[in-house]
Amino acid sequence: MNKIIEIENISKTFETTKVLNDISFHIEQGSFFAIMGPSGSGKSTLLYNISGMDRPDTGRVTFNRKELTNLDDEKLSQIRLTQMGFIFQHSYLLKNLSIRDNIILPGIKSRKQSRKQVNDYADILFGKTGIKSVADHDIKEVSGGQLQRAAICRALINKPDILFGDEPTGALNSSASRDVMDIIGNVNREGTTIIIVTHDAKVAARADKVIFLIDGSIHNELTLGKYEEVMKSNREKKLLGWLEKQG
Ligand code: ADP
Ligand code: MG
Repeated sequence: MNKIIEIENISKTFETTKVLNDISFHIEQGSFFAIMGPSGSGKSTLLYNISGMDRPDTGRVTFNRKELTNLDDEKLSQIRLTQMGFIFQHSYLLKNLSIRDNIILPGIKSRKQSRKQVNDYADILFGKTGIKSVADHDIKEVSGGQLQRAAICRALINKPDILFGDEPTGALNSSASRDVMDIIGNVNREGTTIIIVTHDAKVAARADKVIFLIDGSIHNELTLGKYEEVMKSNREKKLLGWLEKQG
């Protein structure tokens, strides 16, 4: 298997607090990877440091065989725009634009596809995420679950190799959360690597592999293997049992 991301001995200190402490692991191309752990254990910081949103103080991050930690800011943001997608707890869509304009903006900015291709691809994504009917609405007019699905469309408009999520279901009710996870599961099945921070065992049970952070170190890891609908309850049981044994 190809490693899409390789993390070697990264550390990060904020003022006097060591938030990431000599972390190493890799992520297989096409896999679904989850990061869990208590609040303040460094999950978001880890995600930001491996996705080039922030830089570790020491250590190395390699993405698609390119060492991100060596690149200048401009090259790094180009890679983030064209090869990575990001979703967060909130959608962070621009309030004065329609859903569609929010989604096509990064598509036009990256110049990966023509304006027409970007528009056509946005329509495909609206269909896949079930928000076709609200695509031309203002963002004030749609629900939280629809906003988060729009945020997924925005993250995917440049056809990234990897989708990063920092608690993307954290602000959703359980039914909207399930819808969003079904969409992310499909995105993974179509070949995009997923790396997601979550507190929710139901969400993490979709992952092939889960790591558990405590105080900025990997305390433990669990391999669940590829998600299959029939094995759903078994996976959740296995994960919950494992979580009980962590810190
Ligand atoms: P988690 O996502 O697991 O809740 P975070 O990665 O957000 O944890 O934060 C880990 C620790 O790092 C916390 O103690 C937090 O206060 C601290 N921290 C995070 N970002 C910053 C920052 N930009 N400046 C100072 N401290 C930070
Ligand atoms: Mg966090």
